[in-house]
Amino acid sequence: MARTGTEELRRRNRAALVEQLHRHGPQTRAELTEALGLNRSTIGALAADLAEAGYVQETTGRSTGSAGRPSTLAECVPKAATVTAVEIRVDRVRFALVGLGGEVLERAETALDGADPVDAIEVVTGGTARDALEAVAAVPGLVDAGEVAHSTELGWAGRDLAGDLASATGREWQVVDTATAAAVGEWSRGDAHEATKLLYLHGGRGLTAGLVVDGLAPRGGSIQLGHIVVQPGGRECACGLRGCLEAEMEVFGYAEDIEYATLAAGMGDAAARDGLRRSGEDLGRALGAVVTATGPDEILFGGWLRELYLSAAAPVRSALAETTLPHLRSRLRLRTPVLGDEGALIGAAETGFATVVDRMR
Ligand SMILES: [Zn+2]
Repeated sequence: MARTGTEELRRRNRAALVEQLHRHGPQTRAELTEALGLNRSTIGALAADLAEAGYVQETTGRSTGSAGRPSTLAECVPKAATVTAVEIRVDRVRFALVGLGGEVLERAETALDGADPVDAIEVVTGGTARDALEAVAAVPGLVDAGEVAHSTELGWAGRDLAGDLASATGREWQVVDTATAAAVGEWSRGDAHEATKLLYLHGGRGLTAGLVVDGLAPRGGSIQLGHIVVQPGGRECACGLRGCLEAEMEVFGYAEDIEYATLAAGMGDAAARDGLRRSGEDLGRALGAVVTATGPDEILFGGWLRELYLSAAAPVRSALAETTLPHLRSRLRLRTPVLGDEGALIGAAETGFATVVDRMR
């Protein structure tokens, strides 16, 4: 019994050390000792153990203190564990092979020209998916257990994407929705690490949102933001409901369209100004429902919603204020993501690494 306990503890500590280096980059033994709350000799033994297993390398790095004695730095060996990440969009598939520590080892993308994204996977990944420890696909829509229940953007309903990807590549895939992947990316590699509940809004051909809690995506965390009804009995939506946010927003679509409307509004075009204001209010109202239901402490406006938020922050905030409880609103930060277009791909990779670390425990 005691031996099993010790072995379990050792595995947990090994995983914790790998996770620490993966997330925070090269660190000295003193830094690891403090971060992990373990003593120095334990850290030394774990680092040596992981070096032998090929996950970690130790180098003589930066000097510390006035004595200027260079200290030993532990860092991840990127090729020790790789994750294949792909982001599926309506017109293209983007790919990154990411190594332990977060280094992007390979990157490619391919235009679809109407082809099915799954048919493009082997080409865009160059077959690397097979050797990676995990493979993760980010896709815009409502995702549950590998199935895309609904995607406005891709026109899919009830597609077993994990199954299709497995048939095409001969390996298992995880599937996450784009907004949730971007939230994971911003939490782990952006600057949203302080957020306990982070809500990421993705503006593509449709509107989705993803919630992560302490950096992890709960199952079923994707939210169909575009199909929250903001005008009961309003305009007919492609989903079959009436008055959905996607159907009601007057300024909708690409970042360039929002920038154009903003430019026109700035030059005194009253219709453009009203369109932006009403769109901001509709978005704020829909967000009110999401905030009341989920209680995030930070909201990031991604995709073209970034441009809309930058142009219509006041109406978004005032509509949100009218539709959420004061105590939920008081702790809420609204801002734009720092990883821009890269968030979903980075987050897909980090979703894979979370599984890799879990398996080490
Ligand atoms: Zn709808």
